[in-house]
Amino acid sequence: MQTVNKVFINGAFVTPHGTQQIELENPATGEIITRVILADEVDTQNAISAANAAFKIYSQFSLQTRQEYLQRIHDVMATKFDHLSDIISTEYGAPQWFTKFALQDALRSWLVAKEQVKPETFRYHLKENAEVILEPVGVAGLISPWNISLWFMCVKASTAIAAGCTVVMKPSELSARQNNAMAEIFNEAGLPPGLINVLHGNGEVVGNEITRNPGVNKISFTGSTVVGKLLAKNAVETMKRVTLELGGKPPSIIVDDADLNKAIQFVLQVGLQNSGQSCTAGTRVLIPESRETEIIAGLKKGVEAMKVGPATDQDSAIGPIISKRQYERVQNYIKKGMEEGAELLTGGLGHPEGLEKGNFVKPTVFVKVNNRMTIAQEEIFGPVLSVITYKDDADAIRIANDSTYGLHAYIAGTNIERAKKIAEQLQVGRVAINGFVDEPRAPFGGFKQSGIGREFGKFGLEAFLEPKAVFGI
Ligand code: NAD
Repeated sequence: MQTVNKVFINGAFVTPHGTQQIELENPATGEIITRVILADEVDTQNAISAANAAFKIYSQFSLQTRQEYLQRIHDVMATKFDHLSDIISTEYGAPQWFTKFALQDALRSWLVAKEQVKPETFRYHLKENAEVILEPVGVAGLISPWNISLWFMCVKASTAIAAGCTVVMKPSELSARQNNAMAEIFNEAGLPPGLINVLHGNGEVVGNEITRNPGVNKISFTGSTVVGKLLAKNAVETMKRVTLELGGKPPSIIVDDADLNKAIQFVLQVGLQNSGQSCTAGTRVLIPESRETEIIAGLKKGVEAMKVGPATDQDSAIGPIISKRQYERVQNYIKKGMEEGAELLTGGLGHPEGLEKGNFVKPTVFVKVNNRMTIAQEEIFGPVLSVITYKDDADAIRIANDSTYGLHAYIAGTNIERAKKIAEQLQVGRVAINGFVDEPRAPFGGFKQSGIGREFGKFGLEAFLEPKAVFGI
């Protein structure tokens, strides 16, 4: 059992004023592996004061110094790659391929942010006597979820630091080991005290204080739509700038001209990514009526070939669910799907055979799903796919857009021009056709109730900046 009993405030690991304790389990075994002492409002206020004091100094530093800090964090983190990978596997249970992919991306985010730190990003002329200056917004509160906590910490903090902000970070309390490991990296990187502060704490206590405290100027939140709405209401009292990355129910459209071998592999990869615990998981699979039988047979075969198991097994494609509570939530959705009349193609209630100890869910596919059913409208956050049959492209677009969410979509088809026409009509922030293009500067974020604002690249950086126009006549 490891105890996480310090928070990182003002450049030092200190014993929190808070006394509440929680225990975290290894999701693959159910064994309690971590005890965490949580921060409270006093700790949060201390962190906010430290970040404010640091902002006065840090915002005056040169762009070169900002770049040096980003590089240093990257370099220290790179030396700990295997250590971080082990922590994520034990605490989170994600299959190794996913952990390594997420870690590499998290590591790269410091360099991607560094690239953006150049004079023309922060000051430019519209014409000779009209100048725009982009100033750091101030202290940024970064609040993030548990599905690969470390990745969110890196992506958010790297952008905030590149913008010239200082940071109070409240990652998910369910990820204390990852959060602590990142705090150790910030410490080792020798940053100015207060530049980055890390708190382990509950949303209702620490998150709430960050959201309401007038010493915080900006909130960058990733999490559920329910909490996002509450947070936005609280943050408006002090007119904080708010970026919200919320839930999703992404459609994966298989077009009738698709090469099914590739299409099925693609939709299963994106639908069951991160064991379904992803806002971008393509969990609504839209299939054409004309090819229904062969696609359903392919999906069944594909899903049943995927190995469910712990991260310690290199061949695991699907890992456990983060906690018992989330496991029960997923089971309730499977039950609901059956009650509402969807047909179970594979999977169902309970644990896969031989994996009764951890929070393993049977990869489950429902067919004959109506898009108005709960399992097609709500985020399940587990390996559960809903297959919906459509008549033609217009019908597929209508069903895809019939959602309160609008985060991501996927299309599989051989005619790229046709797929792009479909993409243009989808009300989502991102569409991936037949695969992913590695472009870390592309904006990320949602339409509709999937959020407000964007992360990554120019859009992400600007969310931490205040534009000021200066006219000299
Ligand atoms: P959550 O909304 O329960 O919690 C997210 C964070 O908010 C946690 O750190 C939590 O402690 C904190 N929080 C909770 N109540 C709060 C309050 N009252 N004030 C301030 N902070 C509070 O989400 P979760 O269960 O940790 O994560 C899963 C959710 O995150 C899913 O809905 C998923 O879609 C979403 N998500 C979205 C994205 C995206 O980029 N759009 C990415 C990953 C996850």
